[in-house]
Amino acid sequence: MIDSNIIDRLRRIAGNENVLAAREDLLAYSYDATNTWKHAPDVVVLPVNVAQVSEILRLASENRVPVTPRGGGTNVSGGSVPIKGGIVLCTTRLDRIIEINRANLHAVVEPGVVLQDFNTALARQGLFFPPDPQSFAGCTMGGVVAENSGGPSCLKYGVTRQYVLGLEVVLADGTVVKLGGLTPKNRTGYELAMLFTGSEGTLGVISRIILRLLPAPKASRTIVAAFDDVATAGETVSSIIAGSVLPSKVEFVDNWTFEKFRGLLPDETLDSSQVILLIQVDGLPETVEAETQLVEATCQQNTPWIKVAVDSTEAERYWQARRAHFSDISSRAHTIVNEDVSVPRDKIAEFIRLSQESARRHDVPISFAGHVGDGNFHPVVLTDNRDREHYQRALMCVDEIIETALSLGGVLSGEHGIGLEKQRFLKKALDPAAINIMKKIKDVLDPLHILNPGKIWEEDSKIPLNPFRVNPSG
Ligand SMILES: Cc1cc2nc3c(=O)[nH]c(=O)nc-3n(C[C@H](O)[C@H](O)[C@H](O)COP(=O)(O)OP(=O)(O)OC[C@H]3O[C@@H](n4cnc5c(N)ncnc54)[C@H](O)[C@@H]3O)c2cc1C
Repeated sequence: MIDSNIIDRLRRIAGNENVLAAREDLLAYSYDATNTWKHAPDVVVLPVNVAQVSEILRLASENRVPVTPRGGGTNVSGGSVPIKGGIVLCTTRLDRIIEINRANLHAVVEPGVVLQDFNTALARQGLFFPPDPQSFAGCTMGGVVAENSGGPSCLKYGVTRQYVLGLEVVLADGTVVKLGGLTPKNRTGYELAMLFTGSEGTLGVISRIILRLLPAPKASRTIVAAFDDVATAGETVSSIIAGSVLPSKVEFVDNWTFEKFRGLLPDETLDSSQVILLIQVDGLPETVEAETQLVEATCQQNTPWIKVAVDSTEAERYWQARRAHFSDISSRAHTIVNEDVSVPRDKIAEFIRLSQESARRHDVPISFAGHVGDGNFHPVVLTDNRDREHYQRALMCVDEIIETALSLGGVLSGEHGIGLEKQRFLKKALDPAAINIMKKIKDVLDPLHILNPGKIWEEDSKIPLNPFRVNPSG
């Protein structure tokens, strides 16, 4: 528990209305979108300008109080759970879109801007910011940059990192630093803005973001194809990618979410054991038509069941069904273990086959969904952490899935980050020399380890976990 004196000083820095310390408020900031990690902070502060962010961090450093940066709290790695108590520094009230510059194709935003609001504002000017985490209605730009988020569109357009031109960051000791600039080319020293992109709130608090924008595509088409099994769908994805079309999105849902599509696709020949590929091509209208035909032809090699949405309204219904996967699966089990591995695209079918074998061996239900076009999967194991034996089998299955992804040349996390969830695999997933460099960077930027302690590097944390308040599986 932090000293009440510190809470008083936070009130003086940020104003009474921007500091929360009531029990019910603290509970609201004790979890994220995982269902396994919960821990209440001692206080929540919602600064409204960068000077306040700086003063809060200086105060925290002087008193060695843990600070957990937080945006919308939608992450699925435990990243914004204040596992060591202290201060939650929530940036949602820094929520201005400062500039949208059509002539230079850039925007300047504060971290609390909600992604959907940003894209709505851009669309009015015929522009767009492609990375599209499927939590776009609630996630904030600070969280998007801190997680280097992806999403379906990243297949064609790349992840957040490719759009960050510059950042303003507040370091652990309160220093405000400006990185990068307004130009897409910038070879002036080390690219420090990239270092903070994807750093999960462990290196600094992002207080302003300069982003590269693109003109919005003029047209798009959505193709739905159903396959008899997961492996055939995976092979089809590999064939599409190996062909001459780069779709903007290729998404996959297995038969667990099939029922969401059944209502949209009234066809007696479809049965609930089938799996769905959802593909979007975009660009100029004539290119879109040609690419739609090429994608259809590739799918036809593996399935007779293909439908092209007639308009954007029909297409949006399919995309909504795809987005429902996470909540749908979450509602079917007391506990889910949601993974985020990424494998090379020519290994997709093999990865799915081996993962299914693991699930069979450990006798646990598994569902697959994900941004399969870029090899990024979210295998979800359904379990119940009140049943120790079942939960252990689920974890063993997940361990094997991660081993499989790594052995196929894949990575531990495609987009969700390490947070609390994936620390135990880091040593397998990274070169020891790389881990050494990363830890030195952490030591330089946050020598007291007050920023998001317990995340990514728990073993080196200078603030011990309180075992009586941590409930990793409850
Ligand atoms: C249904 C669902 C679908 C999702 N789909 C996707 C997807 O398709 N692709 C994808 O990549 N992710 C996805 N996510 C994960 C998540 O939504 C994204 O990572 C999102 O960008 C997090 O934004 P947030 O504002 O909620 O951040 P939070 O969850 O609040 O925080 C995430 C991390 O960023 C840090 N952070 C937040 N704000 C700041 C700041 N201002 N400065 C420094 N650090 C900060 C936090 O400490 C934490 O480590 C999904 C989540 C859900 C629940």
